[in-house]
Amino acid sequence: MTDLISIAEARRRVLEAVTRLGDEDVPLDVALGRALAEDVASAIDVPPFDSSGMDGFALVAGPEAELELIGEARAGHPASEAVRPGAAVRISTGAALPEGADAVVPVERTDDAAGPSGAPARVRVPATEAGANIRRAGEDIRAGDVVLHPGTVLGPAELGVAASVGRASLRCALRPRVAVLATGDELTPPGEPLAAGAIYGSNGFALSAQVERAGAELARRGTVPDTPEGTRDAIREALEAADVVIVSGGVSVGPHDHVKDALRDLGVEEHFWGVRLRPGKPTWFGTRDGTLAFGLPGNPVSAMVTFQLFARPALAALQGAAPDAPRASATLAHPVARNERREEAVRVRLRHTDEGLVAETTGEQGSHMLTSMLGADALALIAPGDGELAAGERVEVELL
Ligand code: AMP
Ligand code: MG
Repeated sequence: MTDLISIAEARRRVLEAVTRLGDEDVPLDVALGRALAEDVASAIDVPPFDSSGMDGFALVAGPEAELELIGEARAGHPASEAVRPGAAVRISTGAALPEGADAVVPVERTDDAAGPSGAPARVRVPATEAGANIRRAGEDIRAGDVVLHPGTVLGPAELGVAASVGRASLRCALRPRVAVLATGDELTPPGEPLAAGAIYGSNGFALSAQVERAGAELARRGTVPDTPEGTRDAIREALEAADVVIVSGGVSVGPHDHVKDALRDLGVEEHFWGVRLRPGKPTWFGTRDGTLAFGLPGNPVSAMVTFQLFARPALAALQGAAPDAPRASATLAHPVARNERREEAVRVRLRHTDEGLVAETTGEQGSHMLTSMLGADALALIAPGDGELAAGERVEVELL
């Protein structure tokens, strides 16, 4: 780990190694969070027909008048009568505009405003302009329009738009299958008593949650003892089962750190080991054929931060989605200590102020202090330098 590389270079090497996975049809009701793999063009106009924007009366535009009521158009039930001058059709919001009508008068503007009593035969309407309160066919989407593009991560609005053009399923990128392995003889599952020297393993849970948040599928989760054979066996199986293997811990220079050797023994080619980053210096990355393997540091904050900076972009790119997390510029609320050589990923909360975004740290920033991730909105990326960065300085933040 002599030649540390920058965050940007590490990310570049990760993305360079990624080949997009294939795709599959996904029913709309389970497509939330999936990455779209097709252009979605609408086969129809939306709305599909001219319709009323209000509850009221469909008529032929003209001066104030008393009109004969000749029928009704409800949503889903068009009127059978055509409208002619001197007549009107009662109409509901969303109902098809009857033939002959070119405007709608809202019910509130007529003498029918108190609600229809019985079935009045006539209605008084004010002067009306052609086109009033009409929604035109294709006003939202025209037949042939491409409404969604490949790489889009499907959210509620995208699913709604897909449904509005009549799509029951969408072609989506396959979800990367990810194996998460936590190494360490000290790791105890939550819920069990702690023996001397043991701790509860948290990385398996935090990393698995990050995997799912990234739209990937947790193929397996395991805990691995600090032995060369145990490490090798677990990683061998994980490489078979997953598109991406994420190992936490055991990747540093200690005598009981077996992950790098195991990965190399299993034919995983190293692309880097060591990033000019705090926390997260010993991060390791390699590939075997198309399978990606990350060796993330064991310290819980380091594991989560390096997942965010290196593994999350890979999971997005495997799905053809944009790998870069959104970034912004913020002002430091208070001074932040700088590292002499390494870029520092400081966990911050962001506040909106009249002067723009202000970043304040989440508290103690030790790489073993996982509570520093609680409530973190972003990682402030602090360039290396001497002494501290003063309050009021601008920093780049990567949103979580
Ligand atoms: P390592 O990278 O294996 O040297 O681990 C660095 C530190 O992270 C040690 O204090 C470990 O006990 C701790 N650690 C490693 N894995 C986990 C885990 N899954 N959950 C919580 N702490 C861990
Ligand atoms: Mg360890």
